[in-house]
Amino acid sequence: MSPPTLDVLNPATAEVVATVPAASAADVDAAVTRAAAAQRRWAAAAPADRARLLRRFAVVVDEHIEELAQLEVREAGHTIGNARWEAGNVRDLLDYSAGGAERLLGRQIPVAGGIDFTILEPLGVVGVIAPWNFPMPIAAWGLAPALAAGNAVLLKPAETTPLTALRLAELALEAGLPEGLFQVLPGEGPVAGSALVEHPGVAKIVFTGSTRTGKHIMTRCAERVKRLTLELGGKSPNIVFADADVEAAAAAAPMSFLDNAGQDCCARTRILVERTVYDRFLDLLVPAVSAVVVGDPADEKTQMGPLISAVQRDRVRALVDGGRGADGGRAILGTAPEGPGFWYPPTVLTGVPPEAPVAVEEVFGPVAVVLPFEDEQDALRLANATEYGLAGSVWTRDVGRALRVGQGLRAGNLSVNSHSSVRYSTPFGGYKQSGLGRELGPDALTAFTETKNVFISTEA
Ligand code: NAD
Repeated sequence: MSPPTLDVLNPATAEVVATVPAASAADVDAAVTRAAAAQRRWAAAAPADRARLLRRFAVVVDEHIEELAQLEVREAGHTIGNARWEAGNVRDLLDYSAGGAERLLGRQIPVAGGIDFTILEPLGVVGVIAPWNFPMPIAAWGLAPALAAGNAVLLKPAETTPLTALRLAELALEAGLPEGLFQVLPGEGPVAGSALVEHPGVAKIVFTGSTRTGKHIMTRCAERVKRLTLELGGKSPNIVFADADVEAAAAAAPMSFLDNAGQDCCARTRILVERTVYDRFLDLLVPAVSAVVVGDPADEKTQMGPLISAVQRDRVRALVDGGRGADGGRAILGTAPEGPGFWYPPTVLTGVPPEAPVAVEEVFGPVAVVLPFEDEQDALRLANATEYGLAGSVWTRDVGRALRVGQGLRAGNLSVNSHSSVRYSTPFGGYKQSGLGRELGPDALTAFTETKNVFISTEA
C-alpha cells in the first residue's frame, strides 16, 4: 500500500497544486525523538546565540516574502496583499521574540532566612496545531516565542494548507537553525494531530481552530495534565452608537467581516446598530458591501477571494439558508465569480432573530447579521449573548461610553472606533469558549516556560 498523501487545492480554481506526504503516528514519534535531542542543545546554548539565529531566520523569511505570499495565494486563496502581510508577520514575530531570549527574567522575592528567586525554564518539545485560515501567522505565533524560550517545535499545519509551513521549515535550516529543532508534520488531524496530543514527549499543545476540536484536545490533554493554549472561534460584535461617526463606521464595517472571506476568528459578524441610526447605517452599508472587489486573489486590486474548500462553502451556505428565522429576513448580497473555485458572495442579513444560529454561531464565511438595539444595556446584552468572547468593536464619540461598554464586553480584544485586534506586540486571546491563555505581546514567551522557585538558605 502506498503511503497516505494530502492533495492541496487552489481554492480559486479547485485545481490540485501539490501533493504532499501525510505524517503517520510513527512519523510523529520519530520527530519527537529528534526534537527532544535538538531541544537539549538549544536550551543549553547562550541566549544571545539563540537570539542571533532567530534574527537570521527573520532575515531569510524577509528575503522570501514574495515567494511565501504567492504560495499562500495558491494554497489558501488569500488576496496577495493579505498574503504579503502574513509573511511579514512571521518575520516580525521572529524578530520580536528573538529579543525575548535574553530578557526572559525571573524574580527575586524577599523571604526570611535566605534568598529566593525564580527561573523560567523551557518546557521541552511543543506541538503547534494550526488552522487553514491564517496558516503562516498562526504557526509563527506559537513557533517564534516557543523557540525563543528554548523549546523545540513540531508544527502540524491544516490538511488544506501545508505548503507555506513546509517552506518555512526549509528557510529555518537555511538560516542555520539546528536540524530537528523546528519540524513540520503535514497530516490528518485525527492521525498526526492526535499523535502530537497523545505523545508523552510533547510537553505542550498550542491549538488554533474550531471550538469543537479544541474541546476534544482539551480532554485528551487532561489525561496527562499537558499544558495547553487554545485559540478558538468567535462571533464578535461591532457596536455602532448613534453618537458615532456613522459614515466612518459604515465604511469600515464591510472589511471587518469580509477580510479573508470572513474566515477570521475576529471577524465582526454581528453588527449591532442603535435603532435611531439603523436605517441610515444600512443605507450606507449596502453600497459599501457591493463595492468590495471579489475575484482572483492574485490580482492586486482584489479585496476578497474564495473560501478555503467546498466543505467550508457548504457549511456557510447551510447556516445562511437554514438560519434566517420565520420571516426569512432580508439578504443583501454582493457578487462573486461563477464557475470553478469555492466562491461565496458577501452577504448581509437583516430581520434575523437575535438567537438564530446564523446570529450566534461562527459562520467563518463572508456573512454578517445586522441587529438594532435600544440603549447601552441592550447593546451589551446582545453583544454578550453568545458562547464566544474573542473580540469586539465599539463606535462612539463618547469616551466614557466607550470605556463603560468596553468594560461590560466579555471579550479579550476590544477596539474603539477601529476593528484592529491583532498586533505581534500586544496580547491576543479569548474569554469564554473562545479560548484559553494568551498569545503574542510582551508575555508570549512565558507561556512556553515552567517557573522554578529556588530558595537558598543563608543560615546554614
Ligand atoms: P478544526 O478545528 O477541525 O482543524 C484545525 C486543526 O486541528 C487542523 O490542523 C486539523 O488537522 C487539526 N485537528 C482536527 N482534528 C484533530 C484531532 N482530533 N486531534 C488533533 N488535531 C486535530 O477546523 P476545521 O474542521 O478545519 O474547520 C471547522 C470550523 O472551525 C470552521 O468552519 C470554523 O468555524 C472553525 N475554525 C476556526 C478557526 C479559528 O481561527 N478560530 C480556524 C479554523 C477553523
